[in-house]
Amino acid sequence: MSPQRSARGRALGGRIAAVLLKKKTIRDIDVANKRVFVRADFNVPQDDSGRITDDRRITESLPTLRALLDSGAKVILASHLGRPKGFDKRWTLQPVADRLSQLLDRNVPLAPDCVGERVELMVNNLQSGEAILLENVRFHDEETSNDQSFAKALANLADIYVNDAFGTAHRAHASTEGIAHFIPGVAGLLMEKEIEFLGNALENPKRPFVAILGGTKVKDKIGVIENLLPKVDKLLIGGGMMFTFYKAMDCEIGKSLLDEDSIDFAERVLANEKLIVPIDVVVADKVEAGASTYTVDWDLIPSDGIGLDIGPKAAIEFSQIIQSAETIVWNGPMGVFEIPEFSHGTKEIARAMAESNGTTIVGGGDTAAAVEKFGFADKMSHVSTGGGASLEFMEGKLLPGIAVLQDLE
Ligand code: ADP
Ligand code: MG
Repeated sequence: MSPQRSARGRALGGRIAAVLLKKKTIRDIDVANKRVFVRADFNVPQDDSGRITDDRRITESLPTLRALLDSGAKVILASHLGRPKGFDKRWTLQPVADRLSQLLDRNVPLAPDCVGERVELMVNNLQSGEAILLENVRFHDEETSNDQSFAKALANLADIYVNDAFGTAHRAHASTEGIAHFIPGVAGLLMEKEIEFLGNALENPKRPFVAILGGTKVKDKIGVIENLLPKVDKLLIGGGMMFTFYKAMDCEIGKSLLDEDSIDFAERVLANEKLIVPIDVVVADKVEAGASTYTVDWDLIPSDGIGLDIGPKAAIEFSQIIQSAETIVWNGPMGVFEIPEFSHGTKEIARAMAESNGTTIVGGGDTAAAVEKFGFADKMSHVSTGGGASLEFMEGKLLPGIAVLQDLE
């Protein structure tokens, strides 16, 4: 690590922002005829019969895989799927191998396991420009415990490690972190894209830079608020979180969501002029489709009402702020978007971002799902593939699966 980098690391209280580190990618190395272990995130949703219901995680990995295969690498793919306890056919990666074979237009066989003699045999027979998929790494408990000898067994299969699984980069597991202590590790193209978009927004944003935060608990997002507040020009608060901020202003919030432990924190950050809370609220007496709703100003929530969305005036105000911004980062829905009656605010924010000419970045599992559901995903500059990982990144944390990769000289 360069002195400059370690000095900045100290300045950040030992938490080096991931974005300050420039990592090697597959572009920086020669992979021809090399055995390349690619950790992807193929943790795809499936229906009861095992059919893949959304293959975005697979298609997002294709640029990396095509680049490696075209450069003559021998590609050994690995991923987790679900949370199996031991070997469990329910969580086999066979459907992913089938889908990959279709998408890459070549046979991608599934190995019977991810370590062991039969796997080594398959790897030894691998020709340049061919790929195999290892079976679910979480069939072994040693994956999540980041067991050294298991990580070494994975590393022994290959010459080079490529991490393209941004969604699991916040976990130090054997295939996301441990392995790179034994063979050199670089970032894949999806990982590079995630680091570039999130990293540039946090470190070098075009201004005005606006962040929008919503979702349920303030507690889950305190780290994000603290990291973003000094960097942004405006921070808009919505979702279930906003009521804790109203409470901190001594307002009635009825039966709306309250994160009691975070009232003091909310009070402290409210002093910052960059922070904007919604001026009106959609209220109902039950959290149900078909519930009758009404809109009130922020300080007029009745004692028996539940606030379930930002109001129309707030949606317009937020949209105008978004329109005049050059960089917009959004995490956390503005209301209970899963129920049509409370989805207006979330939809309007998604629309304003889709219509923006600035750089628009969406992070968080539920927020990404909302943007997808309302048909705006294609209009965003970047929809992060990582839920928890993108949150930790926005907290300024150095993700272990990124930290372990080689630095550019
Ligand atoms: P993400 O996964 O994008 O980080 P969160 O998990 O923090 O987002 O929050 C998503 C959830 O927040 C959604 O399921 C949504 O229903 C809920 N939510 C939003 N607004 C409210 C509200 N006013 N009351 C209760 N829940 C809310
Ligand atoms: Mg969530």
